[in-house]
Amino acid sequence: MAACIFCDIAAKKIPARIAGETDQLVAFHDTRPQAPSHLLIVPRRHVAAVAELQPADADLAGRMMLFAADLAEELGLDRTGYRLVVNNGPGAGQTVAHLHLHLLGGRDLSWPPG
Ligand code: 5GP
Ligand code: ZN
Repeated sequence: MAACIFCDIAAKKIPARIAGETDQLVAFHDTRPQAPSHLLIVPRRHVAAVAELQPADADLAGRMMLFAADLAEELGLDRTGYRLVVNNGPGAGQTVAHLHLHLLGGRDLSWPPG
């Protein structure tokens, strides 16, 4: 497989500001935050995009949501609201081909998103 920056972050081969870890997931701060709190939650195992998830990944996908909610609570974002985003494909703004859930909060988030 070609080099993958999020696989390397999950494996601690390249540095990131880690916010939390589980046996299957790693959460770290985005280097170009779009909100005062902006975490990325990624599976340790390489999955290219949400469209690549298989039925056998249902537990993994669910854990990503649950972990995001836990992290949001740790950051106090549950009090003010937060947003979870998954961009799928370049047309939706996916720039890193390793599944990641954006957790954004700490400011007013308008709707619809851009
Ligand atoms: P996407 O646009 O694919 O939905 O989101 C990719 C995100 O990864 C972007 O918000 C971008 O700022 C972030 N990102 C890209 N490279 C790195 C990196 O090396 N480290 C960290 N922490 N974030 C990165
Ligand atoms: Zn990867």
